[in-house]
Amino acid sequence: MRDSRLDPLFAEATTLPGVGPKVAKALGRLLPDARPEGPRVVDVLFHAPSGAIDRRARPTISELVAGEVATLEVEVERHQPPRSPRAPYRVVVADPTGAMTLVFFRAQAGYIERLLPLGEKRWVSGAPELFDGAFQMVHPSHVLDAEGLAKLPPVEPTYPLVEGVTHGLLARTARAALERTPELPEWQNAAFLAQRDFPGFRTALETLHRPRRPGDVAPEGPALTRLAYDELLANQLALQLVRARMRRLGGRATVGDGRLSRKIEAALSFALTGAQTRAVAAIRADLASETRMLRLLQGDVGSGKTVVALLAAATAIEAGRQAALMAPTEILARQHLATLEPLAATAGIRVAVLTGREKGRERASLLMRLEAGEVDLIVGTHALFSDDVAFRDLALAVVDEQHKFGVRQRLALASKGAAVDVLVMTATPIPRTLVLTTFGDMDHSALDEKPPGRTPIDTRLVSLERLDEVYGAVGRAIENGARVYWVCPLVEQSETLDVAAAEDRFGALSEAFPGRVGLVHGRMKGAEKDAAVARFVSGETPILVATTVIEVGVNVPEATVMVIEHAERFGLAQLHQLRGRVGRGAGRSTCLLLWKGPLGETAKARLETLRDTEDGFVIAEKDLELRGEGEVLGARQSGAPVFRLARLETHGALVRVAHDDAGLILSRDPNLTGERGQALRLLLHLFERDAAVRLLRAG
Ligand code: ADP
Ligand code: MG
Repeated sequence: MRDSRLDPLFAEATTLPGVGPKVAKALGRLLPDARPEGPRVVDVLFHAPSGAIDRRARPTISELVAGEVATLEVEVERHQPPRSPRAPYRVVVADPTGAMTLVFFRAQAGYIERLLPLGEKRWVSGAPELFDGAFQMVHPSHVLDAEGLAKLPPVEPTYPLVEGVTHGLLARTARAALERTPELPEWQNAAFLAQRDFPGFRTALETLHRPRRPGDVAPEGPALTRLAYDELLANQLALQLVRARMRRLGGRATVGDGRLSRKIEAALSFALTGAQTRAVAAIRADLASETRMLRLLQGDVGSGKTVVALLAAATAIEAGRQAALMAPTEILARQHLATLEPLAATAGIRVAVLTGREKGRERASLLMRLEAGEVDLIVGTHALFSDDVAFRDLALAVVDEQHKFGVRQRLALASKGAAVDVLVMTATPIPRTLVLTTFGDMDHSALDEKPPGRTPIDTRLVSLERLDEVYGAVGRAIENGARVYWVCPLVEQSETLDVAAAEDRFGALSEAFPGRVGLVHGRMKGAEKDAAVARFVSGETPILVATTVIEVGVNVPEATVMVIEHAERFGLAQLHQLRGRVGRGAGRSTCLLLWKGPLGETAKARLETLRDTEDGFVIAEKDLELRGEGEVLGARQSGAPVFRLARLETHGALVRVAHDDAGLILSRDPNLTGERGQALRLLLHLFERDAAVRLLRAG
């Protein structure tokens, strides 16, 4: 149960004055963390300003500087209504030092007359500009009488906006939300706060939404940094609570005798890389130990994680137990099955697949065999989480491309056996800071050494205006026997539009290359997808148009050309993943990033990074650096948790501090029952780590 002191913060935003259903709806679009049911008071509070306008300057007209916000007292001298409907309404105002013009477009005469009565004094605030040698102010932000001026905040916060929401509305709503914010007991260490000069939680929010100086809202300022630290600490506490819980559940020693692994290694057409060998050894040691394994296997696309997973499974199977491999999509599950089956067969390992597609009698019989222990290794999708899936003795769960699964699901799979060891594989290289925020204290192996014999991918940036040339190049490539992926972008996060874009491209390419083009997208049925991929592999349709369903994992070594349309719409990590689909065989591969201008600075930097390097870790660091500016489509799927207040490009250094702090806190007060512990529970609720609090009670 959440402490009732937090109730006002978790009340609907519509309980705030001035927030009706319409405003709430607009706010819901603005605040990405708001629940579908609508935003709450806390969502408004945690929507930090992106800047602030200083309205303290009080120059005379003669002292105005173009572009610098000024607030000045003037007398209304003359109204000049527009002569034509398109012309602006002008009002000439003056002070003892000179005159200037206020300009209003599409304004109602009556409104302007009431706003600026002739001969009266008013305060106007806005940014003046020079026009024909005289100052004018277009749509002053404020026109006030003396009473209004007294209420004008000296520094006005400005916020990221969407249509239907103004700075004024957000500022008012945030101030109302502040009124509802109770004084809460301090959860941070007093000495730490003093040393960093951090304000208290409530004061920090107050400083953000009622700034006194423009610097008060700066991301690196004490107010936002304090709140970011709160959020990072909540994140680290939650991760470490899950970890502690896993540890308390205890583990079981699974020791293999190496007989199956040896057969598999002998059947491989290559030798393991040093990194693979080290990862396998670390996993075997984890399996053999009495504590429960929770290990992250990180490796760039093509670094050879699959074989590591198979050798891990072989160890569990040698010990007479079972293993499961979970993939995020049906295509991937089947792909894993196709790669693993022949190798497994040489060692006599019995493999089966379970996805949403297995139904009825087939599924029932599979489940029976699984429960009877007649299947050693099961490969599947979410379907493996179903309640009726039971194992005889599950020892190891390998979760591929983990970012598509949540912590809850990870725990669900782990609960399908006595002390299941968990290996999480991810192909998204994650910068050190993000490893901590995403996975916390997980043990960690990195495949930082590519299998030998790969040639670099020739990556080029091509304007979409040169589409004809791209068609020409694609034509030549398929004549030479190449396979070409053609990826169409996400369109405004709408699957329907995605599919439409891919279908259009499919149509256009089919006209140019009749009968040689296939299509695969997220709306197709499993069997259709398989068939499309199979025709691609066989070379029947050497061009495969796809939405980002091929993003993760699909392995067609024959594919040597990757065309990504509207590359500027993808995140860097995603582009890197996509490019990783080629360059898997020994042949020379090409990646064409088709962009549509005009390109912003960030988009340009992103594409150039990709052209210049193939090192996933370099790309990941760069991604983090660039992420601050403008949200990238798909960034939310990139696996990193999305923080509400913390910005890793600014507050990244605090992640390590929060990590160590959380460790210390839990070592002293593992159930958060002490005075500070109680306060920290409030913190966990505030940042909605409620699941972590539940672990506390259970423990
Ligand atoms: P990923 O890490 O992206 O899952 P895969 O496991 O799919 O990579 O491996 C990519 C390709 O590299 C596969 O065709 C696999 O057989 C091959 N491979 C894996 N390890 C090695 C190695 N040590 N030497 C050569 N090829 C390897
Ligand atoms: Mg893979």
